[in-house]
Amino acid sequence: MQADFDTLVVGGGVVGLSVAYGLVRAGDTVCVLDGQDDALRASRGNFGLIWVQGKGLGNPDYAHWTMQAAQRWGAFAADLEALTGVDVELRQPGGLTVGVDDDALTASSRKLDALGTALGIAYPYERLDLQALRERIPEIGPAVAGAIYCPLDGHVSPLRTLRALTQGFRALGGRHESGVQVQQIECLDSAFRVQAGDRRYHARRVVLAAGLSNQALALQVGLDIPVKPIRGQLLVSERVAPFLNYPCHDVRQTGEGVVQIGGSKEDVGVDDGTTIEVMARIAAHAVRCFPLLSDVNMVRTWGALRVMSPDGYPIYQESARCPGAFAVTCHSGITLAPVHAGPLADWIRTGVRPMHIESFKADRFHVQTH
Ligand SMILES: Cc1cc2nc3c(=O)[nH]c(=O)nc-3n(C[C@H](O)[C@H](O)[C@H](O)COP(=O)(O)OP(=O)(O)OC[C@H]3O[C@@H](n4cnc5c(N)ncnc54)[C@H](O)[C@@H]3O)c2cc1C
Repeated sequence: MQADFDTLVVGGGVVGLSVAYGLVRAGDTVCVLDGQDDALRASRGNFGLIWVQGKGLGNPDYAHWTMQAAQRWGAFAADLEALTGVDVELRQPGGLTVGVDDDALTASSRKLDALGTALGIAYPYERLDLQALRERIPEIGPAVAGAIYCPLDGHVSPLRTLRALTQGFRALGGRHESGVQVQQIECLDSAFRVQAGDRRYHARRVVLAAGLSNQALALQVGLDIPVKPIRGQLLVSERVAPFLNYPCHDVRQTGEGVVQIGGSKEDVGVDDGTTIEVMARIAAHAVRCFPLLSDVNMVRTWGALRVMSPDGYPIYQESARCPGAFAVTCHSGITLAPVHAGPLADWIRTGVRPMHIESFKADRFHVQTH
């Protein structure tokens, strides 16, 4: 059977688009099929952090992978802007996790020291007391103890990133079809046949990057990808004069001046609604950190569902039953976008697995079906 494309990517969120962008950049013919507007889309509801600090406690591979991603973000954003003219609002001044008491800061420092030992490096962080923190952010509240600062952290606009990836992918010759809900994937002798309504597509490879839908789709190519939704709620303020030059774990000020407040992690199933209780809790924490926010109007709220594996690490797996079918999923798709477009896309194209992803195979959960 004649294949229409080298690779079909199912899912046009930040994960699918990053992989697709990397593949088309390397010369593959690629088609992205993205579902309906009412699909669950973590990529449109996330917080926009490029977050390194603390990532990989218990799995040094994840720390390496995340650090590599953060280090690639500058070139990645520049490449996208050169191609599309879209500024993704990348800022990497380092990030802060504000601690409300000394015990919390001591516990975080110990964890980062242990992570540094596991990695064989002095982990790049500083513990700031309240005075040192105030020198960086004069608006910090008096009721916090200090912060952990990591110079590798940063943030971007997630929506601008999605737009840049979509435009860049198209500019490089990629085909992007939206409103296309894939139902069936068949593994034929020399190609995959993918059915979406009355449309059919054929490709040498299929990359499943359909977020929470990966679990159901992957079974069709002999993979079991155990992901579940974990909700996060966000509050967004009116524009405020710039006061926050560093992204914090739960509060950031965007390039447009609005303040985003987040940080909830809720195991509530497939429910992307919002609740007064959680909003009040995350707002109270933000006001404690930055008292000026008590006089600022909140103008939008939303809930969105993270795509979470059982151990929280990514899943990158090629099917043994249907070689050429891959599943790619993770809960930090913004942070990891440059490695998904780089070494991960190279692996899919060439079969050469990059360093530090060995422990992200799905069979660590003993779930691959044959
Ligand atoms: C509240 C919140 C805060 C977050 N904060 C951060 C952060 O600060 N930094 C960070 O790095 N990450 C963050 N994340 C995680 C990040 O958003 C996700 O890792 C990322 O968006 C996952 O992208 P995805 O492409 O895998 O999934 P999605 O964005 O869910 O995209 C999946 C796509 O697949 C499509 N699809 C589904 N089924 C089909 C089908 N059958 N056929 C065709 N298409 C289909 C859907 O239409 C959708 O567009 C956050 C997530 C949430 C929810």
